[in-house]
Amino acid sequence: MDCVFCRIVDRKIPSQVVYEDDSVLAFKDINPAAPVHMLVIPKKHIASISEIAPDDLAVIGHIFSVIQGIAKKHGLDRDGFRVVANTGERAGQSVKHLHFHVLGGRDFAWPPG
Ligand code: 5GP
Ligand code: ZN
Repeated sequence: MDCVFCRIVDRKIPSQVVYEDDSVLAFKDINPAAPVHMLVIPKKHIASISEIAPDDLAVIGHIFSVIQGIAKKHGLDRDGFRVVANTGERAGQSVKHLHFHVLGGRDFAWPPG
């Protein structure tokens, strides 16, 4: 399958990994939108939130525990941070492998653009 994030999981494309275990990988976004910008993904290819199956819910729950740990490790938990999962065309999802952006280190506007 021609998926850039599967290739990152397989180490066919290099990335700056910040966390890894059997089911989850977290790495720095190549084009950061904030001083801290990480992507947290399931190693299994799931195309988007719309494609999450009941069997995937354990890893999705685990991802939020990983996000919590990453936020704490990078000092984001005190001042706050943003988690984004762009889903589908109108949200501008460009990589069709489920990923959670973890953004921190600056203020964020609401509503988003
Ligand atoms: P989306 O637009 O799908 O929500 O987010 C995709 C994100 O993946 C973008 O922020 C983009 O910078 C990042 N990205 C795309 N290709 C690569 C890559 O090869 N390596 C890394 N580290 N990030 C990537
Ligand atoms: Zn993939």
